[in-house]
Amino acid sequence: MEHTTSLAELTAALDGAAEVADTEPMWPAQSWDPLRAAGVLGWSISTEYGGQDRPVSELLDGYAQLAAGCLTTSFILSQREAAVRRIADSANAALCRELLRPLACGGRYATVGLSQLTTSRQHGAPALRAELHADRLLLDGTIPWVTGAAQADHVVIGAALSDRRQVLAVLPTTYPGVEVGPPLPLMALQGSLTAELRCQGVELDRRWLLAGPAEQVMGGGRGPGGLETSCLALGLGRAAIAHLEREAVHRSELRPTAERLEQTRGKLWAVLLALATGSATGQAAALRARANSLVLRATQAALTASKGAGFLRGHPAQRWVRQACFFLVWSCPRPAADATLAYLAGDEERSSCGWRS
Ligand SMILES: Cc1cc2nc3c(=O)[nH]c(=O)nc-3n(C[C@H](O)[C@H](O)[C@H](O)COP(=O)(O)OP(=O)(O)OC[C@H]3O[C@@H](n4cnc5c(N)ncnc54)[C@H](O)[C@@H]3O)c2cc1C
Repeated sequence: MEHTTSLAELTAALDGAAEVADTEPMWPAQSWDPLRAAGVLGWSISTEYGGQDRPVSELLDGYAQLAAGCLTTSFILSQREAAVRRIADSANAALCRELLRPLACGGRYATVGLSQLTTSRQHGAPALRAELHADRLLLDGTIPWVTGAAQADHVVIGAALSDRRQVLAVLPTTYPGVEVGPPLPLMALQGSLTAELRCQGVELDRRWLLAGPAEQVMGGGRGPGGLETSCLALGLGRAAIAHLEREAVHRSELRPTAERLEQTRGKLWAVLLALATGSATGQAAALRARANSLVLRATQAALTASKGAGFLRGHPAQRWVRQACFFLVWSCPRPAADATLAYLAGDEERSSCGWRS
């Protein structure tokens, strides 16, 4: 299919609708439809299924640009991409054939509900329990966070068996016993329609199983969010820095701040690409903490420069500041959270542990 919209045009369209997408608990069709029309939903999917199979560096660059336009839309996309990766990386060829083509053209939307295996509710009993039988999987419990839940045809979910082994599966949202809660009242990104999903005696045929049972079914593979999370943080940071650069054209006192932030962002972007392409290893948590720090500082610098006008609803600076806080809680595993806390405590030494620049 021919796609004529450039990434710059798409980003500008997203930017125009970003305030509504952030503040209204409604599916952001005004952003999602152009994104689908521009072919973005095929970027990461194999050509075998009608996608474009783009290399990782191009994907990251695209995600970051979209995040600079509208974090809400790029976040929804990131959860869809996580679902696509779990399906594509599974050994379930039949599900790949069934799901990846409609996902590539946007005829279907899938998302993930995996955090109950990683970063959510780890201090109590498993939130979502599974029983595995010869022909089916029985699901009971709660999936605390599902972005785009009300819009989703499928959710890639993770559940724990009674022996603590885990499974990953695709859950069709129309199955009996599946209940999608109302959109959660969020500090930002309201259009993501993030909701709790409850499962009561849900019977899932084994053909929907993606992985497991295994002790750490998500271990070894890509963690939730991972580099994509840092990528979106750097994308949002870029939007704030670009605002400072525009202001600095007629307010030269802002130039040094814009330059220093952009220098840091450029360095972090280089590390992100090196990690993504395998030329560096093992520093994802340190990168994440630095990306968190950068996006918090850049967005607050944009607000400082925008003064009281930037504090008014509708001004992008207030939106960026609220959205930057999302990176403190989104898919932030213990090492990334520890490093971020060290930054917040002003402890540069500890926060950069394991970091080689
Ligand atoms: C807007 C939004 C969208 C999201 N979308 C998705 C999605 O689409 N898919 C997905 O899989 N995930 C998603 N997540 C989940 C996200 O990645 C994290 O897993 C989530 O933010 C973790 O927060 P939690 O409150 O569930 O953590 P929890 O660890 O459950 O903490 C909740 C509360 O429990 C208490 N607590 C925490 N640890 C302890 C402890 N050790 N002992 C005692 N008490 C403790 C604290 O009071 C804490 O406030 C989303 C999150 C948000 C905010």
